[in-house]
Amino acid sequence: MNKKHILEKVYDPNPVEEKWSKFWIDEGLFIPQVPSSKKKFSMVLPPPNVTGILHIGHALCFTLPDIIVRWRRMQGFNTLWLPGTDHASIAVHNVIEQSLAEKGLTREKIGREEFMKVAWDWKDKYGGMIIHQLKKLGTSLDWTRERFTLDEGFSKAVRHVFIELYKEGLIYRDYYLVNRCPHCGTVLSDIEIEHRERKAKLYYIKYPLLDSDESIAVATTRPETMLGDTAVAVHPDDKRYSKFKKKRVLLPLVNREIPVITDERVEQEFGTGAVKVTPAHDPVDFELGKRHNLEQVIVIDGSGRMTEAAGEEFKGLDRFECREKVIAKLEEMGLLAKTEDYEHAVGHCYRCKTIIEPHLSWQWFVRVKPLAEEAIKVVEEGKIKFIPSNWAKTYFEWMYNIHDWCISRQLWWGHRIPAWYCQDCEHIVVSDEAPAKCEKCPSSKLVQDEDVLDTWFSSALWPFVTMGWPEKTDDLKTFYPTDLMSTGFDIIFFWVARMIMMGLKFAKDIPFRHVFINGLVRDFKRRKMSKSEGNIIDPLEMIEKYGTDALRFTLAALAIPGMDLSLAEERMAGYQAFANKIWNASRFVLMNIQGEEFRLKEEELTLADRWIRSRLVGIIEELHDALENYKFYDAANKIYHFIWGEFCDWYIELVKPSLKQGEQNVGGRPGRYVRPDTEASSSVYALHHRRNLAAYALPPENLWQWHLSLKQERI
Ligand SMILES: [Zn+2]
Ligand SMILES: [Zn+2]
Repeated sequence: MNKKHILEKVYDPNPVEEKWSKFWIDEGLFIPQVPSSKKKFSMVLPPPNVTGILHIGHALCFTLPDIIVRWRRMQGFNTLWLPGTDHASIAVHNVIEQSLAEKGLTREKIGREEFMKVAWDWKDKYGGMIIHQLKKLGTSLDWTRERFTLDEGFSKAVRHVFIELYKEGLIYRDYYLVNRCPHCGTVLSDIEIEHRERKAKLYYIKYPLLDSDESIAVATTRPETMLGDTAVAVHPDDKRYSKFKKKRVLLPLVNREIPVITDERVEQEFGTGAVKVTPAHDPVDFELGKRHNLEQVIVIDGSGRMTEAAGEEFKGLDRFECREKVIAKLEEMGLLAKTEDYEHAVGHCYRCKTIIEPHLSWQWFVRVKPLAEEAIKVVEEGKIKFIPSNWAKTYFEWMYNIHDWCISRQLWWGHRIPAWYCQDCEHIVVSDEAPAKCEKCPSSKLVQDEDVLDTWFSSALWPFVTMGWPEKTDDLKTFYPTDLMSTGFDIIFFWVARMIMMGLKFAKDIPFRHVFINGLVRDFKRRKMSKSEGNIIDPLEMIEKYGTDALRFTLAALAIPGMDLSLAEERMAGYQAFANKIWNASRFVLMNIQGEEFRLKEEELTLADRWIRSRLVGIIEELHDALENYKFYDAANKIYHFIWGEFCDWYIELVKPSLKQGEQNVGGRPGRYVRPDTEASSSVYALHHRRNLAAYALPPENLWQWHLSLKQERI
């Protein structure tokens, strides 16, 4: 603290905070000792997307664990909080492809190699934004250990994991119906789909029976898929259709003969009770088609356009244009029985909100069940604890019903799948490096898989690869398993569960002991923050206006485990005033101790000294308790009331008169305010108060030691 700041009455947080956060990093204060005999406390930062810009959710998600790691550091733990960023395939593709589109280019036009060059250039230029913002937020991360999920070590580890899982049969390739986002141009896993209620239409279409005047009506919300129908299905017990069993219908528009089949899983209550079956474009029909050996006709391609198989009239049309055209045609032909309003859940891409298209294709999958079994066990046995504990239930529900995980993405920015296809015998070679020849035949014509791995595949390895795995590093020995993972509920499945599975499988231990799930930051009316509502609070703007401490303190004060936060800007203004209060109290202390160092003697303390000191010891214990249980709100409240109420309003006011008197006595002149005790002792009192105040200027680690020594004294 320089003189200028001491003299200022109103605290200007920005320059002070900037100075200290630079000082911390320059001095390497957050770099742990390795090896060390001290007890350790470690965490890895949930890596933000490299495209990320700090939002209020980040601010909360990073502030809370920062409080914990700083507290552990003050307690003398050897602490590591390891930072880094995620390469975020889809998000980066969106950024790069948009800028290409502005120049009239596409990724296909420039090719894979050039695209990767552009993407790396972009990453080098803009990828550091979120890191800079994390520093602004005052996070006590060890920047010397910063990692990126696409750095060299990571890429090596990812290939290693892929190969191991493949060898064990836990990774396989299959021709399967998956979810595809036509806009992002890639398939997605089940959990990357958001199901949203949408108003739609239910169309009843008549399929004429062959050699008959009768027809069967089927109901569908996606009439364009009828072009790919290969059957009509009814329930075997449905009397309405018993006479149609084993008959054939003529699929309108396509004029394909398709059978009427029976299947127990047909819902008799839906629509007419007869359903069209499109094995290549609907998950239920896909399974049904497999059971009945039906043909899979692909009529919509990966970009949401109709294929050749859709027929001359429709090929090349966008899926929704095609819908209109199909309906118009059917109406013309008198085959549209009726149309009803219908509300149902529709899958959307979690990144770009485009409606998902089921897509039949060759993809790579992780067989998750065997991995999930172990991951369930460690939570059941309490080795990993969720806070609040009810999140464990959510975790179990998902883990017990887990499906195989589709991990291939039709993108370029990411970890390219280390699989090569023999062009002569179709054998697949999975290898760390490009193989010279096929394993099964003498062919050297091998082509690498074009796809990259799901970004979550690499981030699942984050807790141990960041520490140098698969090498047996000192960092791994010292800091793995980590102690705490603090994150949002929305990525329990995406990330937390997968880190547990992969940690157990490859690092041979749980990745973390505690999973703290923070709430959602809402606005002051408890509404979700969104661009369209215009109620977004930008943390960087808040830092600019009120200071980082005020923002962080507000978030901590609102963080009640298991509850969403309701954030109002006024709260930050309030805590800015609190920072100002601490500033003034500190100025007062610093001016009075005048750079002297003191050692306290118990018998020299006044009643006020003893009181505030015992309150301080008490409050430190209470804070310890609150933080041990992740009650950030409680800790914040206690600090606030102690500093503002007890320390500033009472203690400082109590000592002011004697300090003033002491000052006048320093020169030997009697003071105006004479205490009931001897005149001579008043300067001694002043000195004592100064000494006691000095404790508040101690660095945190010493303060903790001081607290322990006081506790010792009291015992
Ligand atoms: Zn998308
Ligand atoms: Zn071969």
